[in-house]
Amino acid sequence: MPDDMVEAHIRGVRKAVAAGWTVLERGGSSVDAVEEAIVMMEDDDTFDAGRGSFLNREGRVQLDALIMDGATLRAGGVGCVERLRNPVRAARKILSESPHVYFVAEGAERFAAEHGIDLCQNEDLVIPREIENLRRFQAEASRHDSVKDGNYLFTPEMTHDTVGAVALDRDGNIAAATSTGGTLNKAPGRLGDSSLIGCGCYADNQSAAVSTTGWGEPIMKLVLAKWTADRVAAGNLPDWAAREAMNYLEQRLNGHGGIIVLNAQGQFGIAHNTPRMAWAIKTKSIEEAGVERD
Ligand code: ASP
Repeated sequence: MPDDMVEAHIRGVRKAVAAGWTVLERGGSSVDAVEEAIVMMEDDDTFDAGRGSFLNREGRVQLDALIMDGATLRAGGVGCVERLRNPVRAARKILSESPHVYFVAEGAERFAAEHGIDLCQNEDLVIPREIENLRRFQAEASRHDSVKDGNYLFTPEMTHDTVGAVALDRDGNIAAATSTGGTLNKAPGRLGDSSLIGCGCYADNQSAAVSTTGWGEPIMKLVLAKWTADRVAAGNLPDWAAREAMNYLEQRLNGHGGIIVLNAQGQFGIAHNTPRMAWAIKTKSIEEAGVERD
């Protein structure tokens, strides 16, 4: 995250964890909890999700989100949507009310509208900070080869503000959700890892709930969320699996990112190989938020 936004990130993740906790405390499901946590961050301009997301190279916001229920393996995903303030709400409707799992672009927006979700204008999602961010990036692109050939995506300095949440409810069920505006200056129609099952998000009570952030293409190639969940299913602790996932990402494809992992016993892991990542956690006995630095 940019240096001047560290405090805003900590405030944002604190609010998200409080929103999720409110659901769990009154006996709500882990799916409801992750949905509310993600909505809180989509509504916060700080993050690359919902309003305030990175712009694609045409200056438009294009959003992806996925939510998954570890009890049933039901999932809902949307990709490349441009008129939804809260893509995770549409993803949730797909999970609960559709025989399908994934909708994209206008079809996803139509599904959302038919299920009572208001559409907005794309301009409603665009903020001045991101117009300036894109302008600066594109001005540099004409000067630096690494930007021209796409290698800038390798640099850990490239910020990633995708949001993710994992939760365990009192019935012992886990869930995960991830929402993003993707990468800055992406090509229109480019879909990242965040909304793809097993890449940016996964949940199965028999293994783990996982959400990832970072440079999406390597994460997709490694199907990293499912890779991590499989390590937990094989008997490893989520903390170990999270750290191994970051090692694997870096060693295999020189990728960078972050991951949160939770199993149905309440054991969790948080890891990243970027300079820092904001996180917040709440259990009956712990309440913490912070920015982890490498
Ligand atoms: N993983 C996201 C993507 O590649 C970006 C991010 O995490 O910031 O779309």
